[in-house]
Amino acid sequence: MHYKSHTCGELRLEHVGQEVTLAGWVHRRRDHGGVIFVDLRDRFGITQVVFNPAHLSAEMFALAESLRNEYVIQVIGEVVKRPEGMANPKLATGEIELLARKLVVLNPSKTPPFVLNDDTQELDEALRLRYRYLDLRRERMTRNLVIRHRFVKFIRDYLDARGFLEVETPILFKSTPEGAREYLVPSRLYPGRFYALPQSPQQLKQLLMVAGVERYFQIARCFRDEDQRADRQPEFTQLDMEMSFVDQNDVLEVVEGLLTAFTEQFVALHGKRLMFKPFPRLSYEEVMERFGRDKPDLRFGMELFDVSEAMRGTSFVPFQAAHVKGLVAPGCAHFTRKQTDELTEFAKRNGARGLIVLWHDAEGYRASGAGAKLSDAEKQAIMRLSGSKPGDLVLLAADDDRMKLNEALGELRHELGQRLKLGDPDVLAFAWIVDFPMFSYDETEKRWVANHHLFTAPRDEDLEFLETDPARVKGKQYDLVCNGYEVAGGSIRIHRRDVQERVMRLLGLSMEEAYQKFGHMLEAFEYGAPPHGGIAPGIDRLTMLYASAPNLREVIAFPKNQQAADTMLGIPSPVSEKQLQELHIRIVTEEAAEKIAQ
Ligand code: ASP
Repeated sequence: MHYKSHTCGELRLEHVGQEVTLAGWVHRRRDHGGVIFVDLRDRFGITQVVFNPAHLSAEMFALAESLRNEYVIQVIGEVVKRPEGMANPKLATGEIELLARKLVVLNPSKTPPFVLNDDTQELDEALRLRYRYLDLRRERMTRNLVIRHRFVKFIRDYLDARGFLEVETPILFKSTPEGAREYLVPSRLYPGRFYALPQSPQQLKQLLMVAGVERYFQIARCFRDEDQRADRQPEFTQLDMEMSFVDQNDVLEVVEGLLTAFTEQFVALHGKRLMFKPFPRLSYEEVMERFGRDKPDLRFGMELFDVSEAMRGTSFVPFQAAHVKGLVAPGCAHFTRKQTDELTEFAKRNGARGLIVLWHDAEGYRASGAGAKLSDAEKQAIMRLSGSKPGDLVLLAADDDRMKLNEALGELRHELGQRLKLGDPDVLAFAWIVDFPMFSYDETEKRWVANHHLFTAPRDEDLEFLETDPARVKGKQYDLVCNGYEVAGGSIRIHRRDVQERVMRLLGLSMEEAYQKFGHMLEAFEYGAPPHGGIAPGIDRLTMLYASAPNLREVIAFPKNQQAADTMLGIPSPVSEKQLQELHIRIVTEEAAEKIAQ
């Protein structure tokens, strides 16, 4: 005998008259004039079960009366059509119900610490994470798991059909500087030595290209010990890809084809659509000028406008800076001074010196504070260049540093876009950002750093400036953005040892260090490394967007909380003195030692 003959999402009118066995959880129980109704739930759906004393032994009925939410039960009974007018069109099984003949309680349940059968309720996330196995029973969470599974399955099928090979790379990897801080794993067999968890399989996938794999992918777990600001996870999952004998265009085409197909074939069923087809390709310079952010939300306009020229020779002191730009907040002329002060504070936190605010009403621009000192001709020029209309609010800022100005206004644009809900939640606005500057100068560390990673190839035409003018070197580097998030990043790689060494030198690695850290790469490049490149779309982030989830934790079965802890498992956790000894580790702070003793 099987535990169940059907799932709780399966029965239809055509099953009427059949005797079936269902098993699952008590989702909800209602007593109606001596008859007990139970919504029985499993992962596949919900079926209404009726316990009617007229069809049951007194003993069975008493058992049904003892049922509480989340009891695990098995029910044998007959599928019957629901009485006229009682069908539930919201439920796939809504035209039938199960008339119970026999009930078995497989396992009772304590009352759950939060409501599992009502997704409209706001729940405390700390509590949800503490009891994640209960949280995942909720319909919305089950749905998120399903979307993620579909996505990964689609990826595997799509890439398999295009000649890609899925190859696993190790989790115990080598400590190498790749950008973020690493998680280290002490070695028992080699005192004082460590493995590191991979920040990504970057080096190994490149070595797979040297190995001739040619088209590689992996659903790869990556580990970065970063501060948990914003919406990050210490471990996350990428679709890691690498291809040989390709240029930038080839890589972009594969990923764009994959995401377009998945969105259209699957995500569209959830009411989502693509804003652009094909995805636009914008240079880093262009997006910074127009949107002030290298991951712009393109679902709405609100582009930055430039009045620098028009303000030349102004007597308005704040606008005597080299660059004056602004944006129009549509329909926001009703904002109070208090609200605009708050926006000014926001802009300042993001690097602006201040904001000049103009209220566009029926008579033209109204300003208070400093802005009142603008001349009529200047206001006219701003009106013309901004394209603002009565009812709009115009926000301007000035700076000698154009990039800083763009960034401050870009964050302001993003913030306003979210507050005003300018982005259609059903739209996915994918776009490629290309032609990134390859290096930036780190003022605090006084050295050049790679904007992507040090394996990224410079554009051929910029190679000659590598030593003389690193700031002007652009990389063969690309990001995919969607709705204000970066969802993938990648590059064409350096495949020649001499170029790789030049980049390492620029980044301040001595050849000795380079060898120690990356000897395996430099050596491999001497044995016929093919030209290659790749990319890594973030599975968590994309699933989050596909599922319209508010953060990454919603689409990861067992995420860490924002303090990088798992309260269900109680980790990080102390370990025994014996384990530490085996690993040749002594904890030096008293506080930590106390913890171990506990
Ligand atoms: N390894 C890179 C990352 O994790 C992606 C890539 O360049 O393919 O961001």
